[in-house]
Amino acid sequence: MSDAPLLELRGVSAAYGPYRALFDVSLSVPAGSALSLVGANGAGKSTVARVVSGLVPATAGTIRFDGTDITRRPAYERVRMGLTQVTEGRSVFASLSVEENLTLSFRQALGRPGVPGALEETYTAFPKLGQRRAQSAGTLSGGEQRMLALARVLALHQKLLVVDELSFGLAPVVVDEVYTALGQVLSTGTSLLIIEQHVDRALRLADAVAVLSKGRVVYDGTVEGVESRLSELVMGRLEE
Ligand code: ATP
Repeated sequence: MSDAPLLELRGVSAAYGPYRALFDVSLSVPAGSALSLVGANGAGKSTVARVVSGLVPATAGTIRFDGTDITRRPAYERVRMGLTQVTEGRSVFASLSVEENLTLSFRQALGRPGVPGALEETYTAFPKLGQRRAQSAGTLSGGEQRMLALARVLALHQKLLVVDELSFGLAPVVVDEVYTALGQVLSTGTSLLIIEQHVDRALRLADAVAVLSKGRVVYDGTVEGVESRLSELVMGRLEE
């Protein structure tokens, strides 16, 4: 068996029109582990997420996933390969019930026969969603909507989830719930690439951390190795 990382970016650059957002970014996520990506506002974290999930093209460099060069693969193919980005919940259909939202995702990814098993697994992992299965998703609390966004991909047993600001705007106690859920996802063997404004939470879960500054990686290593230098590297973001 190869010990190549599950996800590997080598020398990746990306741009929005004439504006270059990423410069020569190299980082990797080993199978079964969590990498936390931190940096100041505008440092390029979400752009890394988009480049990994295929929403923004890399203008240079290569992205390898599970042994395959996916640099030019469209987003939907990456999803089929087991690489999905979890959005902060806005993609949930507000007028549909929790169960209808889950069923739509599961049917699309697993086919009709896969739906009952995936629903059962989801409600076991997220009992709160089970209690609210008939409620329309638009009336869920902010935290419950994030749970739903996560639940939609959990039962698909993806190899890698790219989690971009999943706890944005949530009360601390709800952020805890989201992180408990992410810990569960990790314990099932799914790897995580986490972008999080609550840096301390992300670092508690992560095995490694990469710090971005102005589109470049300025640190890539262990959590312990960066803790004392984090605010300096992130340029005061933690004090904001
Ligand atoms: P934040 O923590 O504020 O979300 P970030 O680290 O995720 O920031 P990105 O969203 O990746 O940063 O943005 C990196 C740079 O690219 C920023 O300067 C941003 O203004 C720019 N940018 C992002 N999206 C676009 C876009 N669609 N068009 C033009 N520029 C963009």
